[in-house]
Amino acid sequence: MESVNVCRCCLAEGFHRDLNSSYTWLDKKEIYSDMLLECFNIVLSADKKSNSICNLCIKSLRSSLCFKQQVLKTEFHFIKWIRREKKTRWRNFGIEGGT
Ligand SMILES: [Zn+2]
Repeated sequence: MESVNVCRCCLAEGFHRDLNSSYTWLDKKEIYSDMLLECFNIVLSADKKSNSICNLCIKSLRSSLCFKQQVLKTEFHFIKWIRREKKTRWRNFGIEGGT
């Protein structure tokens, strides 16, 4: 549901989306207050007058969350790669050491 309000992230006035409602974007459910919490650990104060977020801030939030998830995913794969490298090094050391 969109209503004339101020964005809680930048104070822009306009027809904005509700922070706590669920919306669908690219077949994925998104709740902007949950995304703020997940990405930045921010919990906005509850206010009945304005609980909205503008389209520009939604784009920034999506981009930030996407980047955070990318970094976490990369870290996971990096750690797996490092462990595999260590195992390979030890295995090669064992073969070379046994001859
Ligand atoms: Zn905004």
